[in-house]
Amino acid sequence: MPANDEKPVTIGLLRERLPGERRVALTPSDIGRLVKRATFLVERGAGSEAGFSDAEFMTAGARVTNMEEVLAQARLIVKIRPPHRSLLFRPGTLLVSLGGRDEALASLLREKSVVHLGLERLPRSTRAQSMDVLSSQASIAGYAAVLEGARQLDVSLPMFITAAGTIKPARMMALGAGVAGLQAIATARRLGAIAHGFDVRHAAREQVESLGATFIPSEVSGLSGEAAGGYAGEQSADEQLRLRRTLATHIASMRLIVATAQIPGRPAPILIDEETVAAMQPGSVIVDLAAESGGNCTLTRPDELNTVHGVRILGPTNLPSAVATNASQLFGGNIRALLDYLIRSDGQLNLDRGDPITGALLANQLPALTPALVA
Ligand code: NAD
Repeated sequence: MPANDEKPVTIGLLRERLPGERRVALTPSDIGRLVKRATFLVERGAGSEAGFSDAEFMTAGARVTNMEEVLAQARLIVKIRPPHRSLLFRPGTLLVSLGGRDEALASLLREKSVVHLGLERLPRSTRAQSMDVLSSQASIAGYAAVLEGARQLDVSLPMFITAAGTIKPARMMALGAGVAGLQAIATARRLGAIAHGFDVRHAAREQVESLGATFIPSEVSGLSGEAAGGYAGEQSADEQLRLRRTLATHIASMRLIVATAQIPGRPAPILIDEETVAAMQPGSVIVDLAAESGGNCTLTRPDELNTVHGVRILGPTNLPSAVATNASQLFGGNIRALLDYLIRSDGQLNLDRGDPITGALLANQLPALTPALVA
């Protein structure tokens, strides 16, 4: 850091503007832990929907101001959602937000000479684990999906033994046993359901079983299970059809399905069609967390409740916002870890393309954009 204690980097935190988005990308506690290394400008009201007041941000050492000043003065801007196209960034601004797989956004930001560090591009390595917003938010979504599903169900998840009779525990199944699916299984188990999990990745079996749930094997031979980076491979249309048919009988015996199967950057695999829904018991519930990328069920409507053959199909696209305080604490912890990594000991930013983390974040930027930015 310079001798006169001047902090070279100014970081701006913006209020989210997407309707229903209640989270904030950094909490006062995160800023308090970084404030010796950077100057923080926070847009007025940025944390109010998540339970963090402007006064708390000021106590943590940030200056609370309007959006125009944040955009004019911050070198690096932090938010959760991709920015609206009308936001007026200064050329040369660095932006940390979601939207890292959106090519249209990437070219728009390039036109504005904004360097976008899209959070989806963080490598899923041990080193970057503390920065992994996809994992932290998927975990919250998996938990919230079970609560949403339980609210819509006509039956209880736990067993009830009463003088009037005994009620059997409900059967639930997570389709896709990644971060969200495993959290859904753990939550459903805590609520007393009989939990099951399915995934095309072989490694998922052990994880499902370690939670005390039953793994449903795919029974489709030669399936392209694993792909690079620990992600699932994409199945052909024929493989997906065969998968649907083998899953259908299992799904028909479940009361609650939490569908989380996704392939990064691709449409979600179709695992439930109308034929499968028709075979489920009326009053059963499907919570489709893949709704934003097309859904695992053909009948999913994003952010709507669609009731077909008596089955309630929910397609929530922003469940972490339902638990906005904790979701913001986890998101903020991830961003704090990233900022901690980006701010060098001399207070300048590390934007080294050869570094596995910053290199991945900068991967789709034009080479011409970055040299001037490495202050
Ligand atoms: P994701 O959100 O991309 O997908 C959710 C799940 O759906 C995955 O488990 C995937 O295998 C599964 N899936 C995809 N196609 C399917 C299909 N046709 N049928 C059934 N299931 C299907 O995944 P995620 O939760 O982000 O995790 C992906 C991988 O990354 C996992 O192996 C996870 O353990 C790993 N991971 C690693 C780190 C780390 O090392 N830092 C952090 C988080 C996750």
